[in-house]
Amino acid sequence: MTALRVGLGVDAHAFGDGVPLVLGGVPIDHPRGLVGHSDGDVAAHALTDALLGAAGLGDIGTLFPSDDEAYRGADSLGLLAEAYDLVRGAGFELVNADCIVIGQEPRIAPYREAMRARLAAALGVGRETVNVRATTTDRLGFTGRSEGLAAQAVALLREASVT
Ligand code: MG
Repeated sequence: MTALRVGLGVDAHAFGDGVPLVLGGVPIDHPRGLVGHSDGDVAAHALTDALLGAAGLGDIGTLFPSDDEAYRGADSLGLLAEAYDLVRGAGFELVNADCIVIGQEPRIAPYREAMRARLAAALGVGRETVNVRATTTDRLGFTGRSEGLAAQAVALLREASVT
């Protein structure tokens, strides 16, 4: 029987002025971006943590410390790809992942397919392997007040087939 492992990732960042908004590696047309040590891409960060969690390889903060200047303004898709390299090095491959962006604004639907494509390309997997969705919180909480965005992701890994 093939061993399967599931992982969960959660992230949140605050909106700030004067920074671009990047979600799932896709530039989003919005007056405010997400403030973070890297590019603040909550979708990429949640997916990265889901992959690391499933493989039992710690978390994004341990792998890419926010006090490390090397990761200031970092392209989060690069970090995602680096994390997945470690996951594959540990003998796992992605079955599928599901990411959900949580926020009142902006509307994600017009960007959803592009985000899937970018995240999947960073992982070197087919677009059908990665799903992206979005939800509001009916104006409740910090995302509902448009103070920032959050994201959650789950990733399912299987032991890579040895050929
Ligand atoms: Mg983050």
